[in-house]
Amino acid sequence: MDYDTYGSNAVELAIDLANADRDDPQWVQLFLDAHDEWFTEGTALELTTTDAGSVARTATLVRDVALADSEPDVMARLNALLQLASPKPYATDHDGELHLHYARPDADAVEQLTTTVAMGLSQVVVQHGWQRLGVCSAEGCGHVYVDTSRNASRRYCSNTCASRSTVAAYRARQRT
Ligand SMILES: [Zn+2]
Ligand SMILES: [Zn+2]
Repeated sequence: MDYDTYGSNAVELAIDLANADRDDPQWVQLFLDAHDEWFTEGTALELTTTDAGSVARTATLVRDVALADSEPDVMARLNALLQLASPKPYATDHDGELHLHYARPDADAVEQLTTTVAMGLSQVVVQHGWQRLGVCSAEGCGHVYVDTSRNASRRYCSNTCASRSTVAAYRARQRT
């Protein structure tokens, strides 16, 4: 599947956020620090509890979109997520290549993250179909993914889960 690099990276950011491990109470902060290349230089990444709550809400909404299994459900959930976005496209070549960003460069961290994630996810859904988002079929995983394969045949979040499931299926066959 061929879609623009920034859009595809933005949807990966959305998927990363939805799959973030929430066991650590500081998980939102850890996520932001691990993805700091997404924020305009100088953006304050230290969040208040309220801000962290907003990011958690965005993460849940992204997950809800990926879990929806009909077009009307995907649309409803996507629109709930887009309600939180404040897109303000601007052109930049900060990495050496001309591309568009979705959020204002001077927006706060929560607004930059939410807008980028919501717009990235929406781009993929409207351009490539709502079936492109799914949840991993591996037992006990539950991670969501975006399917970028040519024939939209993906079933697992990662190669690790795919091979784990292949091995498990093989063993199950051996037993019977
Ligand atoms: Zn950029
Ligand atoms: Zn998985």
